[in-house]
Amino acid sequence: MEFVGYDFLECEAEILRYRKVKKGNKEQYQIVLNRTPFYAESGGQVGDTGFLQSGESKISITDTQKENNLIIHFADKIPSDINAIFKAVVDYNRRALITKSHSATHLMHAALRNVLGTHVAQKGSMVNEHTTRFDFSHFAKMTDEEINSIEQIVNKKIRENIALNEQRNVPSKQAQETGAMALFGEKYGDFVRVITFDKNFSVELCGGTHESKW
Ligand SMILES: [Zn+2]
Repeated sequence: MEFVGYDFLECEAEILRYRKVKKGNKEQYQIVLNRTPFYAESGGQVGDTGFLQSGESKISITDTQKENNLIIHFADKIPSDINAIFKAVVDYNRRALITKSHSATHLMHAALRNVLGTHVAQKGSMVNEHTTRFDFSHFAKMTDEEINSIEQIVNKKIRENIALNEQRNVPSKQAQETGAMALFGEKYGDFVRVITFDKNFSVELCGGTHESKW
C-alpha cells in the first residue's frame, strides 16, 4: 500500500481488501487500496474525504483512518465490481482548507515560542477544514498583548508567502541535530519528514499536508 497524497490528489487504485463493520445500527465498509492519495488522520490532521469511481459506479469516502499501518477508507457502500480499476479522488476543496489550517498551525507554533518562550511545545493539535487548535503548557494565562503579537507574527509570515521546504526521509538523528521541533509524545521512525517555513522561523517534524505557496 502506497500513499501518494503529498504529491497527488487522485490516482488509479485497486481494492486490496475490505470488510463490513457495524457502527451502532449502521453498516459501514472499510476499504484498503493498493495505492491512495487519501491522508489518514494523524498528527492532529483529520482524514481526507472524497470518492472512488469506476465507470458509472461511484462511492463516497467519508473518512480515512490509520490502523496497524494500513490506510483505511470508510464508505457506506461497496462498489458493485470490487475487482475494477478505480480512480481514487480526494475532495480537493476540503483538503486545501485542511492544508491551510495545518500550515497555519506551524506558523502559530513558532510565533508562540517567539513570544512566550521556547518552553512552549505542542502537546496536541486539531487541524480540520474549519479551524486549527493547538494545545500547549504555559505558566500563565496569555495576555491580550501576547495574543495580539502572535496574531501579527502569523499574519506577517503568511504575507511573506514563504515557499514550503519539504524534506522526506531525513535520518531522525540528523533532523534532531538541526533543532527540528517534534511533537510531544509522538513516536518517530528512523527516518522523518521535515517541514520548514523559513529555516530561521519554523522547522518541524511532520507527516501532514502543507501549502506549497500561500
Ligand atoms: Zn505539522
